Amino acid sequence: MKVAIVAAEMAPHAKVGGLADMIASLPPALARRGAQVCVILPGYRALLESIPTESIAGEFGLRLGTELSGFGLRSGIGDRGVPLFFIEHHDFFSRYGIYGGDYYDNLRRYIFFAKAAVKAAAQAIKPDVIHAHDWHAGAAPIVMRADPALRERLEGCISVLTIHNVAFQGRGPADYFDLLNIDRRYFSIDGAEFYGQLNLLKGGAAMADAVTTVSPTYAREICNDPALGEGLEGVLRARGDAFSGILNGVDYSLWDPATDRRIVANYTPDDPSGKRRCKEDLRARLNLPPAVRPLVGMVSRLTTQKGFDLLLDAMEGIMQLDLDLVILGSGDYWIEQGLQAAQRRHGSKLRLMTGYDENLSHGIQAACDIFLMPSRFEPCGLTQMYALKYGSAPVVRATGGLADTVAEYNPSTGSGNGFRFEPYESASLLAALAKALEVWHDAAAWSRLMRNCFAADFSSDYTACQYLELFHRVRRQS
Ligand code: ADP
Repeated sequence: MKVAIVAAEMAPHAKVGGLADMIASLPPALARRGAQVCVILPGYRALLESIPTESIAGEFGLRLGTELSGFGLRSGIGDRGVPLFFIEHHDFFSRYGIYGGDYYDNLRRYIFFAKAAVKAAAQAIKPDVIHAHDWHAGAAPIVMRADPALRERLEGCISVLTIHNVAFQGRGPADYFDLLNIDRRYFSIDGAEFYGQLNLLKGGAAMADAVTTVSPTYAREICNDPALGEGLEGVLRARGDAFSGILNGVDYSLWDPATDRRIVANYTPDDPSGKRRCKEDLRARLNLPPAVRPLVGMVSRLTTQKGFDLLLDAMEGIMQLDLDLVILGSGDYWIEQGLQAAQRRHGSKLRLMTGYDENLSHGIQAACDIFLMPSRFEPCGLTQMYALKYGSAPVVRATGGLADTVAEYNPSTGSGNGFRFEPYESASLLAALAKALEVWHDAAAWSRLMRNCFAADFSSDYTACQYLELFHRVRRQS
């Protein structure tokens, strides 16, 4: 089976969050299962400067509304031997960064990208499946269905849209619909129209042959809970069995303390002594006292989605607990300010590192005893799965993928791999942390918990199997 993955991010060179990690890990996992996979990406500068490419197939013409534009197609090979295709367009993609914070022309850029990707697939790749990710690629399933020429060229090819975060939908004024160059009847309740506006994620979700999101619990939540569905509950419910949740997987060739080159000492479940060295090293580097109390870590975008408003509310209570807290993050300015103020008040036990730092993110996973994720909502979350692999017990709010991957530790039976809380309230967060600390003080119980963490297996191979099953099923049905 030939699968073309269309996405706006890919780790390590074009990464904003978990989407990038998945686009790096899923294709090789699909290939290991026998699929012929390629990834189509925007030709961002960072990608074209780090991966050798060659131009193929000359210049493609593409209509964007009334403009006739063109793009180049370059090909290269990714780290794991996966063929990559880059949509080259000087104005739209030859920029540093990815979304540029929020470039004013992002809607145009990604409509162009998704249309170009489908056109390139139809002419140069001829896949059986186009697997589009998030709103940036949302126009792909729309034009595959609504553009008669593309439909003909891609006969027999199915479209699957994966939603990594339903909060980002790619909405814009109604006249942006014209950039799709499809019949006006698709600006409707069954198409890309949403309360009088263009909505690429909604259009893709309504028109793709199948829709997935990145965990089973998040799939249920965004169908049933208006606070999480962001208005798309009805659209997703209406898809019935064509909408499902498939848990994202981890690329353990990058995230394994036994082999990770970004950490100061490697370790294994049988000999976790290297973890102590990682902890000592991080504590020394951050000028924190030696390990007399547990180290709690966070690596995250600084947003309310990730629970930072709750964290700030609970901060005084957290700082009363016998722990040190290390946070690596970048994101909303007001959150950064709030954390910095907390750091000034509690300089002896709180460290905030702002910015994006891949090495430090691995270092924190390896060094901490407890990994904190108090997310308001969490489509999947990869960092708690990384924490498990590094023997760091997650303390999480039981939502979305966190609920699917973290089970409450029960000291009397020895089952479970972390600590969960539900109400989005300081008291619940503090109670979960306090419970984790209590177990930490019981060395035998903690070592049992660490073994359970190490044993959790969320390999992307399993994710790939589920996607392949889905692709085969949808192809049989269409
Ligand atoms: P999301 O995609 O919602 O941001 P995930 O947990 O799925 O959350 O994935 C986040 C990814 O981004 C992980 O690989 C995490 O290590 C990484 N990450 C987040 N913030 C930073 C940061 N400041 N520096 C380095 N890596 C980060």
